[in-house]
Amino acid sequence: MNFIGIDLGATKIKAGIISENGEIINKITTDTPVGGEVDVVVNSIGMLVNRLLKTGGITARHIKDIDVGTPDMKAADARVPGIEAADKKVPDIKAADVEKQNTEVAGVRRSDTRNTGKSSDIENINVEIPDIKGIGIGIPGACNDEGLVYYAPNLFWNNVPLGELLKEKIDIPVFIENDATMATVGEVACGVARGVSNCVLITLGTGIGSGIIINNDVYSGSHGIGSEIGHMIVGENFYNCNCGNNGCLETFSSATALIKYTKKLLKDTDNNSVYDSLIFKKINGGTGLLDGKLIFDCAKKGDPIATKAVDRLVKYLAIGIGNIINILDPEMIIIGGGISKAGDYLIDKLNKEIPRNIWLKSMNLTKIVRASLGNNAGIIGSAVYAGSRLDL
Ligand SMILES: [Zn+2]
Repeated sequence: MNFIGIDLGATKIKAGIISENGEIINKITTDTPVGGEVDVVVNSIGMLVNRLLKTGGITARHIKDIDVGTPDMKAADARVPGIEAADKKVPDIKAADVEKQNTEVAGVRRSDTRNTGKSSDIENINVEIPDIKGIGIGIPGACNDEGLVYYAPNLFWNNVPLGELLKEKIDIPVFIENDATMATVGEVACGVARGVSNCVLITLGTGIGSGIIINNDVYSGSHGIGSEIGHMIVGENFYNCNCGNNGCLETFSSATALIKYTKKLLKDTDNNSVYDSLIFKKINGGTGLLDGKLIFDCAKKGDPIATKAVDRLVKYLAIGIGNIINILDPEMIIIGGGISKAGDYLIDKLNKEIPRNIWLKSMNLTKIVRASLGNNAGIIGSAVYAGSRLDL
């Protein structure tokens, strides 16, 4: 039994065939159509599904009347921005990303997965894949159980009936949830939180994404708009959040927030101290080169400005995590996203700071860990989520 997991991001759409054990059988990526026009995105998703089914050795009988038109994909592909890039990427991605997983899939020889870029080679893969039972899609926003996307700011979507639109195109049950929630499902199914019943994932990237699992099930609230830890108000800040509020965690502890605050420090610190600082030397005075990794690297080397910026990120993240622990008492809090690459340096700082914010300090039991599935968490989690929603 297999499922398709799709991670619909603002810049890329990733899709993969995932086994019921959470193994990636095949995976492809395309650019998200610029501007996020709904019909074009729906077509791109349909094409990715179609292509996955083909590359997986399955006929495309599940696709009803999608514009990709299975017999003549090229003509349809040309109408959809971004798909040309996807065409070129399929062989590369198969070779680079899928080879390792394919070696673990019964019946697939390493030589079978090698791809020379010809479609005949793709279709000749000697894999028997049973029917795809369901498709899960993680979206960068909030939606209800029917797949009505209330709001997805980076796609410029408001009240888009994505579930219904896909139902008209694809004859496989589709289940839609927030992308960070899907990633959390992935970590619980096959990652660092395997076997954990209650946990929270916080992804620290451009923004802050989050997912909550309570009693082995996802929790997104009564209307699908909950589980937004990035908008937990944890203090007063010098700029407002994109949501319009002031003090959201996202404005303290995302990579964007870290860069903004570091720029402020560089501006506000007296000239002599700035010129002496490692971080100032690294960026040659131009703040355009600042990124989360550089700031953490400089902090690790003891640079006072970078350390001050990192410590502020940690302080407010620890307040947010303390609040989560006080309310939910999860077994584990998983830190993902680009900032989590700071590794033990970040986790150690958090573990020092969090006890200040929990009410029962003698019971500091929640484990703080790094996410383990990286970019694959979304597609794996989406596929697992689809499986969990079907009565199989
Ligand atoms: Zn906010």
